[in-house]
Amino acid sequence: MSNPSLLILAGDGIGPEVMAEVQRIIAWFGDKRGLKFDVSEDLVGGAAYDAHGVPLHDDTMAKAQEVDAVLLGAVGGPKYDVLDFSVKPERGLLRLRKEMDLFANLRPAQCFDALADFSSLKKDIVAGLDIMIVRELTSGSYFGEPRGIFIEDNERVGINTQRYTESEIDRVARAAFELARKRSKKLCSMEKANVMESGILWRDVVTEVHADYQDVELSHMYADNGAMQLVRAPKQFDVILTDNLFGDLLSDCAAMLTGSLGMLPSASLGAPMENGRPKALYEPVHGSAPDIAGQGKANPSACILSFAMALRYSFDQGTEADRLEAAVEKVLADGVRTADLMQADGGAPVSTSEMGSAIIAALDASL
Ligand code: NAD
Repeated sequence: MSNPSLLILAGDGIGPEVMAEVQRIIAWFGDKRGLKFDVSEDLVGGAAYDAHGVPLHDDTMAKAQEVDAVLLGAVGGPKYDVLDFSVKPERGLLRLRKEMDLFANLRPAQCFDALADFSSLKKDIVAGLDIMIVRELTSGSYFGEPRGIFIEDNERVGINTQRYTESEIDRVARAAFELARKRSKKLCSMEKANVMESGILWRDVVTEVHADYQDVELSHMYADNGAMQLVRAPKQFDVILTDNLFGDLLSDCAAMLTGSLGMLPSASLGAPMENGRPKALYEPVHGSAPDIAGQGKANPSACILSFAMALRYSFDQGTEADRLEAAVEKVLADGVRTADLMQADGGAPVSTSEMGSAIIAALDASL
């Protein structure tokens, strides 16, 4: 049987720097755990624009559709800010998400004990926090028609439409229930059924899907209350399911509970392929960080933890994903810190590659 395939799109800025550390981790799993991947690499974002005049070449798009999972670094940078909207680096990423139909965006918000002081909330509220937000990614207000700025009665009117079909809600709800089943079997769905018809439909469909997942405890919450509860008592949640717009806000809010952008991974999943694996793209939440690019300062953890998500959700290697996450946690507990994780009096930071080496040493120690 052939090895599972990975397409690496390192992108711009710190993308290639953090991805270089992921490549070392991938090699470690091949050498030490017999978990070999067929890895190919290609360009995305500004790097693709420089080479081809587009932020994602058609051939790269075709490759992304064929592989078992795509790992992406980050895209963008000041050099590309002047480009026309249609060829901006972000369009490459949006094209991948759209054409792969990645409808479920998984954003974990996990607070590593060693970093609990970094949260803007009190330590006891966030220590041990481990929640997962499932955000619908391909529909809702960001895509609904009609949209645009029109003239009505001699003034401009800005219009966006919140629109969801039953099947769009059904498929993302199933993804969230499946995930809840693998965690603590608790799912909270958030919408605004009190003021929005799309919210009423959302609540109805999620309740209907629940019939197939009776082992999971389902609750519903209005999204504004959800935002409040996330900062009041975030540990009451395990998996949160929500739509595109609310998910955008709630997942950023939850992310900041953990304190550091350099630690946050994400996964975007689509429908199962012929081999049963979902279409999948894994990427850190952070951007290309032009302010520190090329200086060896970037924290590779978010990108490495995105690969851990790939092990778990694309390759059914939960034990190995646990091993990798535990290695990152051990390194933090040992006090190893890249510059973004330093307190004012915290001593000397390690470089991107030193952080990668420390994680590999922790992986070695786990054997
Ligand atoms: P950013 O996430 O790149 O950086 C925000 C701040 O966090 C910066 O100070 C940066 O140094 C720091 N930071 C981010 N990741 C870090 C890491 N791994 N280690 C250490 N520090 C880290 O966001 P921004 O500055 O708003 O955007 C910069 C560029 O990235 C823009 O072109 C933007 O469009 C793009 N962007 C891309 C993505 C993506 O590729 N998914 C996401 C967000 C922003």
